[in-house]
Amino acid sequence: MSLSHGRHTLSIPGPSVMPDRVLQAMHRAAPNIYTGPLIDLAATLGPDLKAIAKTTGDMAMYIGNGHAVWEASLANVLAPGDRVLVPATGNFSHGWAGMAQKMGIKTKMIEYGRRSALDPADIAATLEADTNHAIKAVLCVQTDTATSVKSDVAALRAAMDATGHPALLMVDCIACLGCDEMQMDAWGVDVVVAGCQKGLMTPPGMGFVFFNAKAAEARARMERVSSYWDWVPRANPAEFWQYWCGTAPTHHLYGLREALDMIVREEGVEAVLARHATLARAVWAAFEAWGAEGPVELNVSDAAIRSNAVTSVRIGAENGTRLRNWLTEEAGVTLGIGLGMATKEDPKSDGFFRVGHMGHLNAHMLMGTLGAIQAGLVALDIPHGAGGLDAAARVCAEG
Ligand SMILES: *Cc1c(COP(=O)(O)O)cnc(C)c1O
Repeated sequence: MSLSHGRHTLSIPGPSVMPDRVLQAMHRAAPNIYTGPLIDLAATLGPDLKAIAKTTGDMAMYIGNGHAVWEASLANVLAPGDRVLVPATGNFSHGWAGMAQKMGIKTKMIEYGRRSALDPADIAATLEADTNHAIKAVLCVQTDTATSVKSDVAALRAAMDATGHPALLMVDCIACLGCDEMQMDAWGVDVVVAGCQKGLMTPPGMGFVFFNAKAAEARARMERVSSYWDWVPRANPAEFWQYWCGTAPTHHLYGLREALDMIVREEGVEAVLARHATLARAVWAAFEAWGAEGPVELNVSDAAIRSNAVTSVRIGAENGTRLRNWLTEEAGVTLGIGLGMATKEDPKSDGFFRVGHMGHLNAHMLMGTLGAIQAGLVALDIPHGAGGLDAAARVCAEG
Protein backbone atom coordinates (compact mmCIF):
# COMPACT_ATOMS: atom_id res chain seq x y z
CA MET A 1 0.00 0.00 0.00
CA SER A 2 1.10 3.55 -0.68
CA LEU A 3 -0.39 6.74 0.72
CA SER A 4 0.80 8.75 -2.27
CA HIS A 5 -2.42 8.75 -4.28
CA GLY A 6 -4.17 12.09 -4.25
CA ARG A 7 -3.04 15.48 -5.49
CA HIS A 8 0.72 15.39 -5.93
CA THR A 9 2.65 18.20 -4.23
CA LEU A 10 5.81 19.65 -5.68
CA SER A 11 7.85 21.24 -2.89
CA ILE A 12 11.01 21.97 -4.87
CA PRO A 13 12.73 25.31 -5.48
CA GLY A 14 11.45 25.69 -8.99
CA PRO A 15 9.55 25.12 -11.04
CA SER A 16 7.02 25.94 -8.37
CA VAL A 17 3.35 25.05 -8.02
CA MET A 18 1.25 26.70 -10.72
CA PRO A 19 -2.13 28.08 -9.67
CA ASP A 20 -5.08 26.43 -11.43
CA ARG A 21 -6.06 29.93 -12.56
CA VAL A 22 -2.75 30.33 -14.37
CA LEU A 23 -3.15 26.99 -16.13
CA GLN A 24 -6.76 27.75 -17.05
CA ALA A 25 -5.81 31.14 -18.46
CA MET A 26 -3.42 29.36 -20.83
CA HIS A 27 -5.94 26.79 -21.98
CA ARG A 28 -7.34 28.49 -25.06
CA ALA A 29 -7.15 28.57 -28.84
CA ALA A 30 -4.25 30.17 -30.69
CA PRO A 31 -4.73 33.94 -30.47
CA ASN A 32 -4.37 36.66 -33.09
CA ILE A 33 -0.81 37.93 -32.88
CA TYR A 34 -1.26 40.82 -35.33
CA THR A 35 -3.87 42.96 -33.60
CA GLY A 36 -6.24 42.80 -30.66
CA PRO A 37 -6.17 41.93 -26.98
CA LEU A 38 -2.88 40.01 -26.89
CA ILE A 39 -0.99 43.08 -28.08
CA ASP A 40 -2.54 45.16 -25.31
CA LEU A 41 -1.94 42.43 -22.75
CA ALA A 42 1.79 42.31 -23.52
CA ALA A 43 2.15 45.98 -22.67
CA THR A 44 0.63 45.43 -19.21
CA LEU A 45 3.27 42.91 -18.10
CA GLY A 46 6.20 45.32 -17.77
CA PRO A 47 4.65 47.68 -15.21
CA ASP A 48 3.58 44.81 -12.95
CA LEU A 49 6.92 43.01 -13.18
CA LYS A 50 8.67 46.29 -12.38
CA ALA A 51 6.39 46.75 -9.38
CA ILE A 52 7.70 43.45 -7.99
CA ALA A 53 11.36 44.35 -8.65
CA LYS A 54 10.62 47.89 -7.37
CA THR A 55 12.10 49.71 -10.32
CA THR A 56 11.04 52.39 -12.76
CA GLY A 57 13.89 51.40 -15.08
CA ASP A 58 13.67 49.32 -18.23
CA MET A 59 12.86 45.65 -18.67
CA ALA A 60 13.43 43.17 -21.48
CA MET A 61 11.57 39.86 -21.79
CA TYR A 62 13.05 36.66 -23.20
CA ILE A 63 11.66 33.28 -24.18
CA GLY A 64 13.94 31.18 -22.04
CA ASN A 65 14.75 29.98 -18.57
CA GLY A 66 17.10 31.42 -15.96
CA HIS A 67 20.16 30.42 -17.93
CA ALA A 68 18.85 32.47 -20.87
CA VAL A 69 18.68 35.66 -18.84
CA TRP A 70 22.08 34.94 -17.29
CA GLU A 71 23.45 35.03 -20.84
CA ALA A 72 21.23 37.90 -21.98
CA SER A 73 22.34 40.14 -19.13
CA LEU A 74 26.03 39.42 -19.68
CA ALA A 75 25.77 39.82 -23.46
CA ASN A 76 24.44 43.37 -23.19
CA VAL A 77 27.15 44.91 -21.02
CA LEU A 78 30.24 42.70 -21.19
CA ALA A 79 32.56 41.85 -24.06
CA PRO A 80 35.14 39.06 -24.33
CA GLY A 81 38.18 40.06 -22.30
CA ASP A 82 36.20 42.13 -19.79
CA ARG A 83 36.58 41.27 -16.11
CA VAL A 84 33.89 40.53 -13.53
CA LEU A 85 34.01 39.82 -9.81
CA VAL A 86 31.84 36.96 -8.52
CA PRO A 87 31.24 36.48 -4.81
CA ALA A 88 30.23 32.80 -4.67
CA THR A 89 27.66 31.56 -2.16
CA GLY A 90 26.73 28.30 -3.87
CA ASN A 91 26.20 26.37 -7.07
CA PHE A 92 24.33 29.14 -8.89
CA SER A 93 27.11 31.69 -8.42
CA HIS A 94 29.42 29.18 -10.08
CA GLY A 95 26.90 28.57 -12.84
CA TRP A 96 26.62 32.25 -13.76
CA ALA A 97 30.41 32.68 -13.55
CA GLY A 98 30.94 29.59 -15.71
CA MET A 99 28.66 31.00 -18.35
CA ALA A 100 30.57 34.29 -18.29
CA GLN A 101 33.83 32.40 -18.77
CA LYS A 102 32.46 30.61 -21.81
CA MET A 103 31.61 34.02 -23.25
CA GLY A 104 35.26 35.01 -22.91
CA ILE A 105 34.72 37.14 -19.80
CA LYS A 106 37.44 36.88 -17.14
CA THR A 107 35.99 35.97 -13.76
CA LYS A 108 37.57 36.56 -10.40
CA MET A 109 35.84 34.48 -7.73
CA ILE A 110 35.60 35.21 -4.03
CA GLU A 111 34.52 32.00 -2.32
CA TYR A 112 32.19 32.02 0.66
CA GLY A 113 31.64 28.27 0.90
CA ARG A 114 28.18 26.78 1.29
CA ARG A 115 26.85 28.28 4.49
CA SER A 116 27.86 31.96 4.47
CA ALA A 117 26.69 35.09 2.73
CA LEU A 118 29.08 37.33 0.84
CA ASP A 119 31.01 39.94 2.83
CA PRO A 120 30.65 43.38 1.20
CA ALA A 121 33.99 44.47 2.76
CA ASP A 122 35.88 41.86 0.70
CA ILE A 123 34.28 43.05 -2.51
CA ALA A 124 35.03 46.67 -1.63
CA ALA A 125 38.66 45.79 -0.91
CA THR A 126 38.99 44.01 -4.26
CA LEU A 127 37.45 46.96 -6.10
CA GLU A 128 39.71 49.41 -4.25
CA ALA A 129 42.75 47.44 -5.36
CA ASP A 130 41.47 47.60 -8.95
CA THR A 131 42.76 51.13 -9.48
CA ASN A 132 42.52 51.09 -13.29
CA HIS A 133 38.88 49.92 -13.14
CA ALA A 134 39.40 46.73 -15.09
CA ILE A 135 36.49 45.05 -13.25
CA LYS A 136 33.34 45.92 -15.15
CA ALA A 137 30.71 44.24 -12.99
CA VAL A 138 30.01 42.35 -9.78
CA LEU A 139 27.75 39.30 -10.31
CA CYS A 140 25.76 38.59 -7.16
CA VAL A 141 23.22 35.82 -6.65
CA GLN A 142 20.80 37.22 -4.09
CA THR A 143 19.49 33.83 -2.97
CA ASP A 144 21.60 30.89 -4.02
CA THR A 145 19.06 28.14 -4.54
CA ALA A 146 21.54 25.35 -3.81
CA THR A 147 22.68 26.54 -0.39
CA SER A 148 19.62 28.74 0.35
CA VAL A 149 22.03 31.47 1.46
CA LYS A 150 20.70 35.00 0.95
CA SER A 151 23.13 37.90 0.65
CA ASP A 152 22.54 41.53 1.60
CA VAL A 153 22.37 43.32 -1.74
CA ALA A 154 21.84 46.79 -0.25
CA ALA A 155 24.95 46.43 1.92
CA LEU A 156 26.94 45.24 -1.08
CA ARG A 157 25.90 48.29 -3.08
CA ALA A 158 26.76 50.63 -0.21
CA ALA A 159 30.22 49.09 0.08
CA MET A 160 30.76 49.36 -3.69
CA ASP A 161 29.62 53.00 -3.67
CA ALA A 162 32.03 53.82 -0.85
CA THR A 163 34.95 52.83 -3.08
CA GLY A 164 33.86 55.08 -5.94
CA HIS A 165 34.52 52.17 -8.33
CA PRO A 166 32.24 52.25 -11.41
CA ALA A 167 31.57 48.48 -11.67
CA LEU A 168 27.97 47.53 -12.40
CA LEU A 169 26.06 45.56 -9.77
CA MET A 170 24.22 42.70 -11.48
CA VAL A 171 21.93 40.56 -9.32
CA ASP A 172 20.40 37.15 -9.99
CA CYS A 173 16.93 37.19 -8.40
CA ILE A 174 15.75 34.10 -10.24
CA ALA A 175 15.03 32.09 -7.09
CA CYS A 176 13.54 34.79 -4.99
CA LEU A 177 11.77 37.57 -6.90
CA GLY A 178 8.37 37.83 -5.22
CA CYS A 179 9.62 35.96 -2.12
CA ASP A 180 12.62 37.88 -0.76
CA GLU A 181 12.59 41.66 -0.84
CA MET A 182 14.21 43.25 -3.91
CA GLN A 183 14.33 47.04 -4.12
CA MET A 184 16.19 47.48 -7.35
CA ASP A 185 16.09 51.29 -7.50
CA ALA A 186 16.36 52.08 -3.80
CA TRP A 187 19.30 49.69 -3.42
CA GLY A 188 21.00 50.93 -6.59
CA VAL A 189 21.11 47.62 -8.45
CA ASP A 190 22.03 48.14 -12.11
CA VAL A 191 20.79 44.84 -13.56
CA VAL A 192 18.36 42.28 -12.13
CA VAL A 193 17.62 38.95 -13.78
CA ALA A 194 14.57 36.81 -12.98
CA GLY A 195 12.55 33.93 -14.37
CA CYS A 196 8.83 33.20 -14.38
CA GLN A 197 8.80 29.72 -12.85
CA LYS A 198 9.66 30.33 -9.22
CA GLY A 199 8.04 33.13 -7.23
CA LEU A 200 6.09 34.18 -10.32
CA MET A 201 4.10 30.91 -10.50
CA THR A 202 4.15 30.52 -14.31
CA PRO A 203 5.37 27.45 -16.25
CA PRO A 204 9.10 27.68 -17.09
CA GLY A 205 9.86 29.52 -20.30
CA MET A 206 10.05 33.27 -19.75
CA GLY A 207 12.89 35.36 -18.31
CA PHE A 208 13.28 39.03 -17.51
CA VAL A 209 16.22 41.44 -17.42
CA PHE A 210 15.64 44.72 -15.60
CA PHE A 211 18.23 47.45 -16.17
CA ASN A 212 18.77 51.03 -15.09
CA ALA A 213 20.25 54.06 -16.87
CA LYS A 214 23.80 53.19 -15.84
CA ALA A 215 23.47 49.72 -17.36
CA ALA A 216 21.89 51.25 -20.47
CA GLU A 217 24.97 53.47 -20.83
CA ALA A 218 27.22 50.42 -20.54
CA ARG A 219 25.13 48.75 -23.25
CA ALA A 220 25.49 51.85 -25.47
CA ARG A 221 29.28 51.67 -25.14
CA MET A 222 29.36 48.06 -26.41
CA GLU A 223 30.94 47.64 -29.81
CA ARG A 224 28.67 44.75 -30.71
CA VAL A 225 25.77 42.91 -29.06
CA SER A 226 24.14 39.74 -30.40
CA SER A 227 20.92 40.81 -32.07
CA TYR A 228 18.97 38.06 -30.34
CA TRP A 229 20.06 38.99 -26.79
CA ASP A 230 20.03 42.78 -27.39
CA TRP A 231 17.77 44.30 -24.76
CA VAL A 232 17.26 47.62 -26.59
CA PRO A 233 14.42 46.66 -28.98
CA ARG A 234 12.90 44.28 -26.44
CA ALA A 235 12.62 46.96 -23.77
CA ASN A 236 11.06 49.56 -26.06
CA PRO A 237 9.67 47.69 -29.06
CA ALA A 238 8.42 49.66 -32.04
CA GLU A 239 6.55 46.54 -33.16
CA PHE A 240 5.01 43.63 -31.29
CA TRP A 241 7.45 40.99 -32.57
CA GLN A 242 10.39 42.90 -31.12
CA TYR A 243 9.39 42.14 -27.51
CA TRP A 244 10.64 38.59 -28.05
CA CYS A 245 12.74 39.00 -31.22
CA GLY A 246 10.25 36.83 -33.11
CA THR A 247 7.07 34.98 -32.27
CA ALA A 248 5.61 35.83 -28.88
CA PRO A 249 5.29 33.05 -26.26
CA THR A 250 1.54 33.46 -26.67
CA HIS A 251 0.16 31.16 -23.99
CA HIS A 252 2.79 32.07 -21.45
CA LEU A 253 1.56 35.65 -21.71
CA TYR A 254 -1.92 34.68 -20.56
CA GLY A 255 -0.48 32.60 -17.74
CA LEU A 256 1.89 35.32 -16.60
CA ARG A 257 -0.86 37.95 -16.79
CA GLU A 258 -3.03 35.83 -14.49
CA ALA A 259 -0.13 35.28 -12.07
CA LEU A 260 0.63 39.01 -12.00
CA ASP A 261 -3.05 39.73 -11.35
CA MET A 262 -2.83 37.50 -8.29
CA ILE A 263 0.47 38.92 -7.02
CA VAL A 264 0.29 42.62 -7.86
CA ARG A 265 -3.37 43.49 -8.28
CA GLU A 266 -5.11 41.17 -5.81
CA GLU A 267 -2.95 40.06 -2.88
CA GLY A 268 -0.43 42.89 -3.33
CA VAL A 269 3.37 42.68 -3.43
CA GLU A 270 3.89 43.56 0.24
CA ALA A 271 1.37 40.95 1.38
CA VAL A 272 2.98 38.33 -0.87
CA LEU A 273 6.39 39.07 0.66
CA ALA A 274 4.96 38.96 4.18
CA ARG A 275 3.27 35.61 3.48
CA HIS A 276 6.56 34.15 2.27
CA ALA A 277 8.38 35.51 5.32
CA THR A 278 5.94 33.83 7.70
CA LEU A 279 5.81 30.53 5.83
CA ALA A 280 9.63 30.47 5.73
CA ARG A 281 9.76 30.96 9.52
CA ALA A 282 7.37 28.03 9.88
CA VAL A 283 9.77 25.86 7.86
CA TRP A 284 12.75 26.90 9.98
CA ALA A 285 10.83 26.35 13.22
CA ALA A 286 9.98 22.80 12.19
CA PHE A 287 13.56 21.94 11.23
CA GLU A 288 15.01 23.56 14.34
CA ALA A 289 12.74 21.36 16.49
CA TRP A 290 13.53 18.21 14.50
CA GLY A 291 17.21 19.11 14.63
CA ALA A 292 17.30 19.21 18.43
CA GLU A 293 18.30 15.53 18.26
CA GLY A 294 19.87 13.55 15.45
CA PRO A 295 21.32 14.55 12.08
CA VAL A 296 18.74 17.05 10.76
CA GLU A 297 20.20 20.55 10.46
CA LEU A 298 19.35 23.71 8.53
CA ASN A 299 22.21 24.44 6.13
CA VAL A 300 22.13 28.12 7.07
CA SER A 301 22.39 28.62 10.82
CA ASP A 302 22.16 32.44 10.81
CA ALA A 303 18.47 33.31 10.29
CA ALA A 304 19.44 36.74 8.91
CA ILE A 305 20.89 35.15 5.78
CA ARG A 306 18.16 32.57 5.15
CA SER A 307 15.90 32.95 2.14
CA ASN A 308 12.12 33.14 2.22
CA ALA A 309 12.01 31.11 -1.01
CA VAL A 310 13.96 27.91 -0.33
CA THR A 311 15.52 25.99 2.55
CA SER A 312 18.48 23.66 2.17
CA VAL A 313 18.71 20.93 4.81
CA ARG A 314 21.59 18.72 5.93
CA ILE A 315 20.49 15.27 7.04
CA GLY A 316 23.61 13.12 6.93
CA ALA A 317 24.98 10.32 4.75
CA GLU A 318 22.36 9.10 2.29
CA ASN A 319 19.38 10.14 4.32
CA GLY A 320 18.49 13.00 1.97
CA THR A 321 17.89 10.67 -0.94
CA ARG A 322 16.12 8.07 1.23
CA LEU A 323 13.80 10.69 2.65
CA ARG A 324 13.02 12.22 -0.74
CA ASN A 325 12.26 8.82 -2.23
CA TRP A 326 10.03 7.89 0.70
CA LEU A 327 8.08 11.12 0.40
CA THR A 328 7.48 10.67 -3.32
CA GLU A 329 6.57 7.00 -3.10
CA GLU A 330 4.63 6.95 0.15
CA ALA A 331 3.29 10.46 0.65
CA GLY A 332 2.90 12.12 -2.76
CA VAL A 333 5.37 14.94 -2.08
CA THR A 334 8.47 15.71 -4.13
CA LEU A 335 11.28 17.54 -2.31
CA GLY A 336 14.25 19.21 -3.98
CA ILE A 337 17.49 17.29 -4.43
CA GLY A 338 20.71 18.36 -2.74
CA LEU A 339 22.57 20.44 -5.31
CA GLY A 340 26.22 21.39 -5.50
CA MET A 341 26.95 20.07 -2.00
CA ALA A 342 29.15 17.19 -3.10
CA THR A 343 32.17 16.14 -1.05
CA LYS A 344 34.49 13.16 -1.37
CA GLU A 345 32.37 11.28 1.18
CA ASP A 346 29.11 12.34 -0.48
CA PRO A 347 29.76 12.74 -4.21
CA LYS A 348 26.07 13.07 -5.11
CA SER A 349 25.01 15.44 -2.32
CA ASP A 350 22.82 12.62 -0.95
CA GLY A 351 23.06 14.03 2.54
CA PHE A 352 21.01 17.07 1.59
CA PHE A 353 17.57 17.96 0.40
CA ARG A 354 15.74 21.22 -0.22
CA VAL A 355 12.25 22.48 0.44
CA GLY A 356 10.94 25.06 -2.00
CA HIS A 357 8.51 27.51 -0.39
CA MET A 358 8.06 29.96 -3.22
CA GLY A 359 5.06 31.25 -5.10
CA HIS A 360 1.64 29.65 -4.84
CA LEU A 361 1.87 28.40 -1.27
CA ASN A 362 -0.40 28.67 1.73
CA ALA A 363 -0.28 27.42 5.30
CA HIS A 364 -2.23 24.28 4.45
CA MET A 365 0.10 23.28 1.62
CA LEU A 366 3.21 23.95 3.68
CA MET A 367 1.91 22.12 6.76
CA GLY A 368 1.13 19.17 4.46
CA THR A 369 4.70 19.04 3.22
CA LEU A 370 6.12 19.41 6.73
CA GLY A 371 3.75 16.72 8.03
CA ALA A 372 4.88 14.36 5.30
CA ILE A 373 8.52 15.07 6.15
CA GLN A 374 7.88 14.20 9.79
CA ALA A 375 6.16 10.97 8.73
CA GLY A 376 9.21 10.17 6.61
CA LEU A 377 11.62 10.80 9.49
CA VAL A 378 9.57 8.40 11.62
CA ALA A 379 9.20 5.76 8.88
CA LEU A 380 12.92 5.74 8.12
CA ASP A 381 14.01 5.79 11.77
CA ILE A 382 15.95 9.00 11.28
CA PRO A 383 16.46 10.36 14.79
CA HIS A 384 14.85 13.77 15.30
CA GLY A 385 13.59 16.06 18.01
CA ALA A 386 9.91 16.29 18.91
CA GLY A 387 7.51 19.11 18.18
CA GLY A 388 8.45 20.16 14.63
CA LEU A 389 4.88 20.38 13.43
CA ASP A 390 3.76 22.11 16.62
CA ALA A 391 6.46 24.72 16.16
CA ALA A 392 5.45 25.33 12.53
CA ALA A 393 1.78 25.50 13.46
CA ARG A 394 2.58 28.11 16.11
CA VAL A 395 4.31 30.32 13.52
CA CYS A 396 1.33 29.98 11.17
CA ALA A 397 -1.08 30.72 14.02
CA GLU A 398 0.77 33.85 15.05
CA GLY A 399 1.09 34.98 11.45
C1 LIG B 1 16.63 28.39 -10.91
C2 LIG B 1 17.79 29.32 -10.84
C3 LIG B 1 18.62 29.57 -11.94
C4 LIG B 1 18.51 28.83 -13.23
O1 LIG B 1 17.28 28.92 -13.79
P1 LIG B 1 16.86 27.89 -14.96
O2 LIG B 1 15.47 28.32 -15.25
O3 LIG B 1 16.96 26.51 -14.37
O4 LIG B 1 17.78 28.09 -16.09
C5 LIG B 1 19.62 30.49 -11.79
N1 LIG B 1 19.81 31.15 -10.63
C6 LIG B 1 19.05 30.92 -9.54
C7 LIG B 1 19.33 31.66 -8.28
C8 LIG B 1 18.01 30.00 -9.63
O5 LIG B 1 17.25 29.77 -8.55
